[in-house]
Amino acid sequence: MRKQIIGSSWKMHINSINMAEETGEDLNKLLGHESRVEMFILPSFPMIPKLSEVLKNSSIKYGAQNMCYEEKGAFTGEVPPLVLKELGCSYVEIGHAERRSYFNERDENINKKVRLAFKYGMIPVVCIGEEERDKKENIGEIKIRSQILWALNGLSKEDAQEVILAYEPVWAIGKEEAASVDYVENMHGHIRDIVKKELGEEVSKNIRIIYGGSVGPENSKELSKREDIDGVFVGRFGLEAENFKSIVDNFIR
Ligand code: PEP
Repeated sequence: MRKQIIGSSWKMHINSINMAEETGEDLNKLLGHESRVEMFILPSFPMIPKLSEVLKNSSIKYGAQNMCYEEKGAFTGEVPPLVLKELGCSYVEIGHAERRSYFNERDENINKKVRLAFKYGMIPVVCIGEEERDKKENIGEIKIRSQILWALNGLSKEDAQEVILAYEPVWAIGKEEAASVDYVENMHGHIRDIVKKELGEEVSKNIRIIYGGSVGPENSKELSKREDIDGVFVGRFGLEAENFKSIVDNFIR
């Protein structure tokens, strides 16, 4: 049985170390002993050492929003995977839509990052999702297939089933409304089918697929009831500890 998982990327919404510390402490008070679901937060890089203190021995794990696709060398401004490992990161987000569009992140490098995440003992949270224009032209599923094939390329079955696939339709990120629950469930089924075809039944049964894109306490209730939705990935509406807790509570079975 797949364990439900709820994550939150703080992006740059939380933009000071003090604010990160306070939010981490609030979350820890509310959820630090919750073990029925898996939870993680992804702050900006420089906040990670502070969060590692705040969340010491907590059920809430932490990670990074990105990392370099190489291990070391002349890559100005990048963050090496080893440093994330040294800081105790359990997760690393890879290929978010904002990174794909603003920072030109390419599928080849996303695959390199996924492999490096495993090399350094971190779980990759790989973002996939179609854009508005793909949806309009009915090629959303093809786009997603290609993103999945690239992300999982070359992984062993053991590693592939540990990947967390975050389905985030680009047209639903940062909006007032999320994708409809039926739409999400249908896409998750499609994603699981692709994984089954490429990597076999076992991997497809074990891999966790979470939904992201304008998730909040309200719509997470309905999302949590669907079989193929293994959790959610939250942005704006999870920045308040109380809201994050309400979302987590919805997923406790
Ligand atoms: C995201 O971009 O990953 C995200 C889930 O953002 P929001 O919830 O703010 O739409």
